Amino acid sequence: MIDTHCHIDFEEYGKDRDEVISRAKDKLDAVIVSGIGYESNKGVMNLCDEYKNFIYPSFGYHPVSSQNCSEEELKLSHTHLIENINNIVAIGEVGMDYFYVKDKALREKQKEIFLSFIEIANEYKVPLLMHVRDCEKKALNIVLEYDDIPYVIFHCFSGSSKTARRIMEKDNYFMSFSTMLCYSKQHQDLIKNISLDHILTETDSPYLAMTKEERNEPVNVVNAVKKISEIQNEDMETVDRITTNNARKIFKI
Ligand SMILES: [Zn+2]
Repeated sequence: MIDTHCHIDFEEYGKDRDEVISRAKDKLDAVIVSGIGYESNKGVMNLCDEYKNFIYPSFGYHPVSSQNCSEEELKLSHTHLIENINNIVAIGEVGMDYFYVKDKALREKQKEIFLSFIEIANEYKVPLLMHVRDCEKKALNIVLEYDDIPYVIFHCFSGSSKTARRIMEKDNYFMSFSTMLCYSKQHQDLIKNISLDHILTETDSPYLAMTKEERNEPVNVVNAVKKISEIQNEDMETVDRITTNNARKIFKI
């Protein structure tokens, strides 16, 4: 079992990160931590160095924070990313967020930044891990223009069933589902018709716990796998085997 997207580098884990990671090690095969900006990417790499062969890094630039970024910081992120291109398992999270960002000019800026990272994923042939909210169809149409991105992942996919069907037309496109499945009727309905061959599992820790006050953690990805097996009427072992293999293939871990 693999948590393909979380943020255990965040300060929420400052006091007990070791314990969180050891609980994850008891149940999971690997954890992928996604950076959200230049400083964050550096921290993610340090954490991964400390827990080699269990925690793997993905370098990104979060679409919501990126709307206020300077040219200089963006350039630094690009350079740092390219310097580390062989040491990361994916580029992300990067993307577009129309839920938090309503302003047209800011959305345009998000898109430009997103494109700059897509270009790198395409040129260096690195998997692209996307944060896309309320603009899934738009994002899909954008990435479909690029032929050399080896794998495309919609993290915490919340798009329509129609977009999901289009995503499944591509063998190398995936949708990741989180612990949100345990309480979100929308996601429970959505995953009914999504083939396991296109599914990854994640927690997005510290977010998306069962209650708003709670802090999520990677080991809870078990609950997402369990929920998928219930909804799809498959045994948990099968869901685990297929989704873990998907992640191993994509991220080469
Ligand atoms: Zn995230």
